[in-house]
Amino acid sequence: MWNSPKVGILGGGQLGRMLVESANRLNIQANILDVDNSPAKQISSHDGHVTGSFKEPEAVRKLAETCDVITAEIEHVDTYALEEVASKVRVEPSWQAIRTIQNKFNQKEHLRKYGIPMADHRELVNNTPEELAQIGEELGYPMMLKSKTMAYDGRGNFRVNSKEDISEALEALKDRPLYSEKWAYFKMELAVMVIKTKDDVLSYPTVETVQEDSICKLVYAPARNVSDAINQQAQALARKAVSAFEGKGAFGVEMFLLEDDSLMLCELASRIHNSGHWTIEGCALSQFDSHIRAILDLPIPPKSLELLQPSIMLNIIGGATPDSHLTATQAALSIPNASIHLYSKGAAKPGRKMGHVTVTGATMHEAETFIQPLIDVVDTMRA
Ligand code: ATP
Ligand code: MG
Ligand code: MG
Repeated sequence: MWNSPKVGILGGGQLGRMLVESANRLNIQANILDVDNSPAKQISSHDGHVTGSFKEPEAVRKLAETCDVITAEIEHVDTYALEEVASKVRVEPSWQAIRTIQNKFNQKEHLRKYGIPMADHRELVNNTPEELAQIGEELGYPMMLKSKTMAYDGRGNFRVNSKEDISEALEALKDRPLYSEKWAYFKMELAVMVIKTKDDVLSYPTVETVQEDSICKLVYAPARNVSDAINQQAQALARKAVSAFEGKGAFGVEMFLLEDDSLMLCELASRIHNSGHWTIEGCALSQFDSHIRAILDLPIPPKSLELLQPSIMLNIIGGATPDSHLTATQAALSIPNASIHLYSKGAAKPGRKMGHVTVTGATMHEAETFIQPLIDVVDTMRA
């Protein structure tokens, strides 16, 4: 056996919780750093957890003392604390990778050196209306003003349609470090989960993601109406982008498929990712299984990352009322082939990811038919 390694995880939200599910099945102890009773801790009873935040150096040091390898379910962690403990414990992926990736502008500057195609963008230095107006002249409208850091679920993005929007955009994202991106006229958004191991860079099939209000709503695996050539090109681009970073584990790569069928990177994440949840039912090894194996140098047969059956993942997101997500869950109970994952995060807030449902089918058409009534329910509950 593998000498019962202990894995430390920065963050105990839903991603940490699903990592724990994978670790548990291999009798691997996962020590979570987060508040007591966080979703990951609720399903893991042992005395190795640490109470605190992944932003507190002291708490990260404490976690490092309890485990053989540290990983993170989120990129917004204290990478200086990780750098410090890296001399005592393995950190996967590397703190350098997480530090570069957690700043979306730095991430793009880094990836540019590797020839990864992405939307043209400009850094804001002073965050003044004059500066953004000048950038608008260069990039054209609309453009997407983005926070470099602490961005998730589109909270950190502001679409600037014309010069008239500039003051509102700067007000919405004030006090944040900013850059602006040329608008990407995509016909579809694609994503690929990449697994970096000690000597390989593997990828799952290309999926189609559908965002609503900048939050991922649906994931179709495989991407619908996408040729095998594009599916392969997207995987190759994702692997190339992830190869630009040091360290092992899962990386989520988001891309735009443009009108002319060319691909552009949207962003990547140094962690397991919402666009990979379908792998729990859709593949022999889920992204969570693969992440645990990758960081512990355990074998990952590439065949186990192939699609077993078409899968559709629907996020259960906090809606108009505090119990909207329970209404959606109730409806999901009657959907054929639906696997329900609730995260036990407590109170729902509009836009908060409370769970997800994956529906599989013998064909994509069958899965679409099964899930449609649930999509209809979710659509009536939007905040
Ligand atoms: P995540 O939750 O995926 O981390 P995020 O807050 O980091 O999201 P992005 O992934 O940068 O934000 O953008 C969110 C969504 O906004 C994208 O999935 C896409 O739909 C849209 N978007 C982002 N950048 C552009 C762009 N340059 N042109 C057009 N649409 C864009
Ligand atoms: Mg992001
Ligand atoms: Mg994104």
